[in-house]
Amino acid sequence: IQKVFRSSAQKPAETQDKHTLPVYANIGSLEDCDEIREAGGEGVGLFRTEALFMKADGFPTEEEQFQIYHQVAQRLNPLPVVIRTLDLGGDKYTSAMAFGDPESNPFMGFRAVRFCLEHQDVFKDQLRAILRASAFGNVRIMYPMISGVQELLQANAVLDEAKDELRERKAAFDENTKVGSMIEIPSAAVTADLLAQHCDFFSIGTNDLIQYLLAVDRVNDRIAHLYNPNHPAVLRTLAQIMEAGNKAKIPVGICGEMATDPLYVPLLFGLGAHEISATASALPEIKFMLRQIKLKDAQDLAKDVLNESEPDAIADMLETFYLNHM
Ligand code: PEP
Ligand code: MG
Repeated sequence: IQKVFRSSAQKPAETQDKHTLPVYANIGSLEDCDEIREAGGEGVGLFRTEALFMKADGFPTEEEQFQIYHQVAQRLNPLPVVIRTLDLGGDKYTSAMAFGDPESNPFMGFRAVRFCLEHQDVFKDQLRAILRASAFGNVRIMYPMISGVQELLQANAVLDEAKDELRERKAAFDENTKVGSMIEIPSAAVTADLLAQHCDFFSIGTNDLIQYLLAVDRVNDRIAHLYNPNHPAVLRTLAQIMEAGNKAKIPVGICGEMATDPLYVPLLFGLGAHEISATASALPEIKFMLRQIKLKDAQDLAKDVLNESEPDAIADMLETFYLNHM
């Protein structure tokens, strides 16, 4: 069956009623690009850049980062590549990140854009490197762990400075590089309509969003059974974010693990997702599955699921939908 998925991976994910859902790949390195096209990936929806920063001798320079980003952009051109700015902290550490005392609550601590806004030199090096790569392909910038409008505006102000510096240097970059915000903190989800006024796209990080909404540490095995994407709070929040994005006419994608699970893809599509980004190896099956369904049916599924209060019943509905179409 994997062979069937693979053999049709190059066809677009077009539903029976002729709606297309772009499917992108999540990557963490230049090497990860190798399998994207073969798996039918139509771009990169999430380039996690943390691995570049996990080296022993300090943070990578602008030039070192540019070498990687521009190769990724060039190899995938004209397909889009969403490069996420540094998300260190939480479960992603590096010896070069001096924290001082260990934090008792690292997932709610000094992480991602919080770190970058305090270390603007590090942030700007990365932003300039990404901007310069935009001259070589279809590059987009995405901020992780945005909690509200003020943080988004602060990040955008640093981005403006990075652009000014490149203009001064007469370095080439795409002036229209799109900028997106991850929506992975409940406060961002609740204020998604406000955030949408200041960015070009949203990408929902369900891994963190579920952890924060349900107060369930995503790496604590003791409570792993409570980490449940089928909780109505999660599904209502997804629906609300998509509605806010749709109202503001900005695309909303999903790059968390939910988008890698074929059981959830029809639901995400039915809730209004414009694109998904998943592990490359999962893309052939996801595309195959999307070709078996109708958007209308996915929308009905989403409605039914939003009317259901029991996570187990929701799980059954998703499984039944999947089995009925595959
Ligand atoms: C997420 O939180 O869903 C996400 C995609 O980011 P990460 O897993 O890197 O935190
Ligand atoms: Mg995250």
